[in-house]
Amino acid sequence: MLEFAIVGAGFSGIAMARALTRAGVHDFKVYEKAAVVGGTWRENHYPGAACDVPSHLYSLADAPNARWTRLFPRQPEIQAHLLSLGDELIATGKIEFAWRLRSAHWDAEQRCWCLTNAAGQQIRARTMVLALGGLHVPAFPDIPGKEQFAGSVFHSAQWRHDVDLSGRRVAVIGTGASAIQFVPIIAPLAAHLSVFQRSAPWLMPRPDFLFPAWVRSAFARLPFAAQMLRGSIFLLLELLSTGLTHRRFGGWARWLAQTHLHKQVADADLRARLMPDYPIGCKRVLISSDYYPALTRANVQLIDEPISAIESNGLRMQSGQLIEADVLIYGSGFKPMDVLADIEIIGSHGRNLANDWQTRPQAYLGISVHGYPNLHFLLGPNTALGHNSVLYMIDSQVRHIMALQRAKRDRNTLSAEPTAAAQTAFLQDVDAGFPNSAWAGGCRSWYLDTQGHNIALWTKSCLAYRWLTRRVNAADYHFDPQQLR
Ligand code: NAP
Repeated sequence: MLEFAIVGAGFSGIAMARALTRAGVHDFKVYEKAAVVGGTWRENHYPGAACDVPSHLYSLADAPNARWTRLFPRQPEIQAHLLSLGDELIATGKIEFAWRLRSAHWDAEQRCWCLTNAAGQQIRARTMVLALGGLHVPAFPDIPGKEQFAGSVFHSAQWRHDVDLSGRRVAVIGTGASAIQFVPIIAPLAAHLSVFQRSAPWLMPRPDFLFPAWVRSAFARLPFAAQMLRGSIFLLLELLSTGLTHRRFGGWARWLAQTHLHKQVADADLRARLMPDYPIGCKRVLISSDYYPALTRANVQLIDEPISAIESNGLRMQSGQLIEADVLIYGSGFKPMDVLADIEIIGSHGRNLANDWQTRPQAYLGISVHGYPNLHFLLGPNTALGHNSVLYMIDSQVRHIMALQRAKRDRNTLSAEPTAAAQTAFLQDVDAGFPNSAWAGGCRSWYLDTQGHNIALWTKSCLAYRWLTRRVNAADYHFDPQQLR
């Protein structure tokens, strides 16, 4: 039996594996459904895919990368970085690929998790860490007739690089974080590009630049300088995020975004249609300096009328007009609630996580769930971010799991789970901050469930989360009285 089974080899699974190795725990394995590591950065390889968190902050605390070539790294560079981190695990035989988790149940007798993969293979582990990521089940809008479309169709997260867009009529549904990155890249290729917008996004300028070679070699020779940059970016984002965590401080952001729109779009009618009708920050604030210019191209049309149907040769508008297309690209986001849809998790007393989370996913600190001993999530419920680097959250969570591991060892116990009271109190605390935040501005986003509950976001500062997770509060956990023999 393993001490730890980690499921998923994106940034979070790799962070967990590195922390265990550092702590001298070598009895673990990472199980990955794909053939290579990378998670979201392996899946999202659409043209223009890039991170909107500055590179030196978008790195694990224990794996800084002095060689980042630019402020906002692009997908190939991030994926290459992840592959190099993965190589260390592959070299020590710590990853198993093509291993897709189907079910896991808590064996109360043996105090361990029994994991079964899609091929029926079983493994046992004292502790299971689910590092599954939240954004990889594509969402396709429920538009009548979508199966009728006769041209090429794909989702941004399943990009078809074999489909040549040159000289074609391309339709894009969605104007979120992914679409605003690939629209400027495909606009010069397509004969005609129709961008279907349901809600206009708030957009800030993207101050991207290449680090000169001398800066990169300085970072390599003086790691302290890179740490200073990382710390400064983190503190700046913490400061700026007060405009989101407390929406009354968001006036400056609105001013900046409106100025950006005015500078880049001269046409008053287009500008009016690109002006969001909800408070800034309610949906993710996007950063781009080339999206608005792409929309002003002669071969690009922004369509903000609702789509009533998809037909074999195009998209039918509510007005009756047909916008013809040869290729249809969905930039319509993901279904975070469906990440566990095909994985059955059975905890103590036969509890089923899908049932427990039916009304709302919840976990103490977003990490552990009452009724599911020795199960941990990385980037679990209410710990995604709209205002800083999620890698900071992952680092905080991995530290907490390691602290809990030490607490179990000190008590000579085999398992621990949060109390129901601690889990409820955490959720109440998260909810208490929500109404004052920008995310509660009344818009529709993947942060909220259909009842309007915030199921995804951490709505306070990242420092507050680090403080909350810095140590194990023994009163918040139930430690199994059964002792290690
Ligand atoms: P998204 O932000 O959820 O955007 C989906 C888009 O599709 C929205 O514009 C949405 O309109 C539209 N849409 C959905 N259903 C529709 C329908 N029935 N008819 C018309 N339009 C429809 O998805 P995403 O762009 O893939 O981004 C998801 C998340 O991934 C982001 O929030 C971010 O966390 C992450 N991400 C990060 C980066 C980065 O770091 N740069 C890049 C990409 C993605 P509404 O707004 O009206 O709902």
